[in-house]
Amino acid sequence: MNRRDELKANLEEVEERIAKACESAGRPRAEVMLLAVTKTWPASDVEILYELGLRNFAENRDQEAGEKVGQLRHLEEARWHMVGRLQRNKARSVVEWAGQVDSVDSVRLAEALARAAHAKGRTLDVLLQVSIDGDVSRGGVAIADVGELAGVITRSGDLILRGAMTVAPLTMKPSQAFQALASVVSGLRDDHPTATQVSAGMSGDLEDAISHGSTCVRVGTALLGGRRLTSP
Ligand SMILES: *Cc1c(COP(=O)(O)O)cnc(C)c1O
Repeated sequence: MNRRDELKANLEEVEERIAKACESAGRPRAEVMLLAVTKTWPASDVEILYELGLRNFAENRDQEAGEKVGQLRHLEEARWHMVGRLQRNKARSVVEWAGQVDSVDSVRLAEALARAAHAKGRTLDVLLQVSIDGDVSRGGVAIADVGELAGVITRSGDLILRGAMTVAPLTMKPSQAFQALASVVSGLRDDHPTATQVSAGMSGDLEDAISHGSTCVRVGTALLGGRRLTSP
């Protein structure tokens, strides 16, 4: 099978899983965005997925993403998310390619991104990355600190708080983590009406996430495959 046929078959399978999960949850399909996580896969794969209709893509390393997005400027409707841990000194670089940063987990990072967006004369959409089990060494802000960080983001004027994301910890049932994230976002919405996105669920647990209110599933392996090519 050529790569296009392979990606087309994978995409059909993922779309079917999402559609079924939405149906079981009694939710409209349009409520859930499919975010293709293309880290480690070449720009040519992104071109194929774009041709197949996808518009939202994610990367987890600034340098790899910057190079890839640079090769894909002709995909005018593509929108890129940063989903990986981000150091403050990469803030200027990330605003060059990302429309949204899904992994904001500290005040210092938020401030650096706000400055970088401001210097470019644009706003930047962000999600809080939440650590549901409080093990912040794996990235994410503890639930107790969500309110403070959200306040810094909103007050900056340069960042727009769109919601929150989590990676389900290995130490608890994913459904528990997804439920906790949904309740974090519903709490945020009271003070921050733009915070509507719940980014949860990956290749292995997207059904579970959709049944607990996810509005964005981040899918890598199920779309692109498990054996990663070397980065371009
Ligand atoms: C790689 C990655 C994904 C995709 O995971 P798969 O299991 O390959 O679907 C989702 N979210 C983040 C933050 C990732 O780094």
